Amino acid sequence: MQQLLDGTSIEIHNNIQTGNIRHAVFDFDGTLSLIRDGWQNVMVPMMVDFLKTDTNTKETREEIEGIVVEFVDRLTGKQTIYQMMQLAEEIEKRGGEPKEPLDYKDEYNNRLLPIVEQRIANLADGTLSGEILRVPMSLEFLKSLHDMGVQCYLASGTDVEFVKNEAELLGVANFFNGGIHGALREYKKFSKAMVIQKILKDFELSGSELLIIGDGYVEIENAKAVGAIAVGVASVEDNFYNMNADKRERLIRVGADIIIPDFRDGDKLISYLFD
Ligand SMILES: [Mg+2]
Repeated sequence: MQQLLDGTSIEIHNNIQTGNIRHAVFDFDGTLSLIRDGWQNVMVPMMVDFLKTDTNTKETREEIEGIVVEFVDRLTGKQTIYQMMQLAEEIEKRGGEPKEPLDYKDEYNNRLLPIVEQRIANLADGTLSGEILRVPMSLEFLKSLHDMGVQCYLASGTDVEFVKNEAELLGVANFFNGGIHGALREYKKFSKAMVIQKILKDFELSGSELLIIGDGYVEIENAKAVGAIAVGVASVEDNFYNMNADKRERLIRVGADIIIPDFRDGDKLISYLFD
């Protein structure tokens, strides 16, 4: 089933029980924030470098890049550490002696940080407006949900201290009265599924009372596993590798009930969900 909500860009893929939503969980990067857009352009070359220098593989840069692009893409949406664990495994497979995945993650953060900090500085001095670094109309959508009394949560695979800071800078932090959650150094203590489970348990919710919104298959899969309403955001990403170009198809495949390109029709989405 697929139908467009009249005069909007909202695709309805499944019949859902509307009118019950009390809590909403949002992903951050690609769903609300574009501050880290293009992160693949940093992660992929770093991994290719390590695989070339720390092993004696005969594979070409292009061949290695293909392998890296595949697993980075596949593991997107989980905490970054899982991508680094796979890197360590690939190094080991090729006879290298990998470092700790956390060391690779630190190196990645070090390389990404200047880009993120530049955008944040431009935001602070007004060269870049918050609007450009937010997924279109996401702030307005969040504000509406918040004003309607829906408890909102943020759950991201990016380190929690970065997420808190970036949410603040984008002006969306205050809407998350349910809390801002993100990756921890002790990575087993966080996952999006854990955040979702805790909300369901704490408030004794049934699936249709919980809305989950994200651009990654992980959160959509998590949503469907507990019968929550899943909205997939097929936002456009900027990276050299054409990664996640089939984002929309991927989100539909894992069971998204609704697909939106961004929040441009947020008010109509709200009328639909809360009717
Ligand atoms: Mg995301």
